[in-house]
Amino acid sequence: MKDTDPAALATTPWHTLSPSDTAARLAVDPALGLAPPAIAERRQRHGPNRLPEAKRRPPWLRFLGQFHNPLIYVLLAAGLTTLALGHLVDAGVILGVVLINAVIGHIQEGKAERALDAVRGMLAAHATVLRQGERQQIDAGDLVPGDVVLLEAGDKVPADLRLLQARNLRVVEAALTGESAPVDKDTAATAADAGVGDRRGLCHSGTLVACGTGCGVVVATGAQTEIGRIGTLVGEVRTLATPLTRRLDRFARQITAAILAVSVLTMAWGHFVAGMAPLELFLAVVGLAVAAIPEGMPAVVTIVLAIGTRVMARKQAIVRRLPAVESLGSVTVICSDKTGTLTRNEMTAVRVVLADRELRITGTGYAPNGSFLMNDQVCQTCDSAALQALLHCALLCNDARVHRDETGEWRMTGDPTEGALITLAHKGGLDAAEGIQAHPRVDAIPFESERQYMATLHHDHAGHHEVLLKGAPERVLALCTTQAGGQPLDAAHWAAALERAASAGERVLALARADWPADHAEIDIADMRPRFEMLGLVGIIDPPRDEAIAAVAECQQAGIRIKMITGDHAVTAAAIGRQLGLQAGHALTGDVIATLDAAALRRAAQDTDVFARASPEHKLRLIAALQAEGHLVAMTGDGVNDAPALKAADVGVAMGGKGTDAAREAADLVLTDDNFATIARAVREGRVVYDNIKKSLMHMLPTNGGEAGVILLAIFAGLPLPVTAAQILWVNTVTSVTLALSLAFEPAEPGVMRHAPRSPGESIITRALGTRILYVIALMVAATFWVFHWELARGAALETARTAAVNTIVVCELFYLFNVRHFTRHAFRWETLTGNRVALGVALLLVLLQLLFTYAPTLQQLFRSTPLSLSSWTMIVAIGAGLFVLVELEKAWLRRSNVDRL
Ligand code: ATP
Repeated sequence: MKDTDPAALATTPWHTLSPSDTAARLAVDPALGLAPPAIAERRQRHGPNRLPEAKRRPPWLRFLGQFHNPLIYVLLAAGLTTLALGHLVDAGVILGVVLINAVIGHIQEGKAERALDAVRGMLAAHATVLRQGERQQIDAGDLVPGDVVLLEAGDKVPADLRLLQARNLRVVEAALTGESAPVDKDTAATAADAGVGDRRGLCHSGTLVACGTGCGVVVATGAQTEIGRIGTLVGEVRTLATPLTRRLDRFARQITAAILAVSVLTMAWGHFVAGMAPLELFLAVVGLAVAAIPEGMPAVVTIVLAIGTRVMARKQAIVRRLPAVESLGSVTVICSDKTGTLTRNEMTAVRVVLADRELRITGTGYAPNGSFLMNDQVCQTCDSAALQALLHCALLCNDARVHRDETGEWRMTGDPTEGALITLAHKGGLDAAEGIQAHPRVDAIPFESERQYMATLHHDHAGHHEVLLKGAPERVLALCTTQAGGQPLDAAHWAAALERAASAGERVLALARADWPADHAEIDIADMRPRFEMLGLVGIIDPPRDEAIAAVAECQQAGIRIKMITGDHAVTAAAIGRQLGLQAGHALTGDVIATLDAAALRRAAQDTDVFARASPEHKLRLIAALQAEGHLVAMTGDGVNDAPALKAADVGVAMGGKGTDAAREAADLVLTDDNFATIARAVREGRVVYDNIKKSLMHMLPTNGGEAGVILLAIFAGLPLPVTAAQILWVNTVTSVTLALSLAFEPAEPGVMRHAPRSPGESIITRALGTRILYVIALMVAATFWVFHWELARGAALETARTAAVNTIVVCELFYLFNVRHFTRHAFRWETLTGNRVALGVALLLVLLQLLFTYAPTLQQLFRSTPLSLSSWTMIVAIGAGLFVLVELEKAWLRRSNVDRL
């Protein structure tokens, strides 16, 4: 539709307008983009380009959610019954504790959510825009209506756009329409009544570019976009639940059921066998239930996970999905890309092979300083037509820019492989600006990993058209029929040169050209048939990162196999693989993978470490093969087509820097520095988090078990209760969320990366851990009883004996905290006290709380506690120290049996 009447324009739906009318209505020149004054004014008027936040549960609902837990139901029932029976103090304490627990849970959950939000906020989307004629990368939040946005495969569309240009553009609109198949886009206007899914000329915010390229003008931002208007949630559903927390929830429910069963049995025994008074019996059983319920457990586990994600974010690994934290700890294979992840991505062209000679190039970095050497002598024939033709292609069939910044440093924007080619051309005396002006680009086929080449169509001012081609040598050579000078292609010469360069670990590109009919202003994949003239090969070095070499060794020591899956040539890949310390005797190529059946691939996947010329489909098959062998696989990816592999992997890892939005959206983990060493650090952190959850449970469960054991024993033995229900609640409240939580800050065990990965199916409470828990329960029960009866025997009042018993439990827990800091390493060292400052701080706080419990009149009234004598304290501390030593003896026994983890 063509409608240039300004009044009508202002109200016409965007999808019915032509590109030029859209640009006119938004007052922007599509070739230049907006200028700063207009941007500032529009930003003021329309606000930032942010979608409204997903609706969250209001705080009061989240608070109520804290009570929605079978453990708490039991406590509430106990509290209310106690109230009905007129025991106001006990009821008040029970209900008060439930409330305190809910408040703490609420605050901690809020903190955990905020930590995760902050981490997600680090993944802010970017957009490529044209402003004042310059291509710029900006934060997507800074877009304003009228901005000209450039799109390419893998991008997430950052706002609603009216397309001005589209080339093979296909977009996945699942976020908006639920349809996961990509839809074609073009610049045509559509009818006014076209539905959202049919507006081909519009690209909507939040959708993903599956392939092709495009350019569009922003017509709506933030809440005004289609996705903003329908109120779709931003990002994924926030969840703090993971398979582990769900398993533990189930465990908590089982414990509750068991506790209820034991309570009923105890009630029956107390009534029929021991003949206890009903009220006394009831209060004792309430005490039992209250003691045994590990009400702090769900909160502690969630918080340990959330703290783990924060630590990882500080180490450049951003967790997008919480379950990844625990999967990371049991990863057995890491499949990694090569370029930029294992290597530095600092590319330098070092070799040029022409039809009749081979040259070495000196100089590093992007500065144009370096010479062309032949047989170690500076080459005198650098201006030969053949070399100039190759450099011309290197310069123009290229999207990167190399320029000097204000400080005089040479900087590159774009793909480093291409940057290396531009610097090569500079070293040969070519000038980028001149070249581009003399041979403007008319059309292009952009580089894509699957195609492995890129072609550009140029014309000069004399009316000649030529196509320049560069890419993987096998692909380019297959399209060449001649070589420089019109000679027939000498395939053997090029194959030998390719082999030489690749075995030196160089990334090799072939460059070619062809004359083009003057009436063709476009190139298409169909035009890519054998018609080109081979210009030569360029060998580029990209050395492995030093830290990647170290990280590979560390992972291998930790029983994790590293596999490199690269799009590069097999010989190059094997050479780099060897430098990295992989078993790179041979590299398996994508072509071979395609011929293997599932069983053969499983064997090959197991035995091979280097996979070359592999495409995203091969990655997918490799994951399936490795998983079928029982492996837990982490896989890296950055391209738009890597998304399925990232989803299929147990831990999908995307690159924050060079990765596409599509890959980031599909990943569990995003590396902000694109560095393999960061994955190794994240695996290490994943192991630490899992260990710390174990340690928290190892501390919390004996506390509950010990208290319950004390009460059970008293009832069954017909003895007075050493601790009352209210006192038990005090102990649980002050210890579980303090002591156990301090273990979340525990640093890594020294050998954390020296043992094999934990089996994914392994229960969190292993046999050794269960034994430790039972052992400590037995010690705690014995200690508490002993002190209680020792006090009674020396004539102390029941209240005093109980106060001593409560303090014994807490002191035992305090000592035990320092046992738990290491699974089996002995604790008789200074580091035990100083290694975890949070633990030390919490321990001191607890001492203060116990003094208040024992001496503060209000608390004395509430808990019926009394002051203790020095001899009582001495006994209690001695008993706690005894427990510490006995646990250390168990550790020594485990060490002798070569057990180093529980
Ligand atoms: P990895 O998967 O480890 O990142 P890679 O970066 O080497 O590997 P691709 O980017 O898919 O893999 O490149 C595959 C091949 O395509 C390269 O070996 C090179 O020959 C060629 N190639 C890479 N970049 C370009 C480019 N910009 N233009 C033309 N050809 C390229």
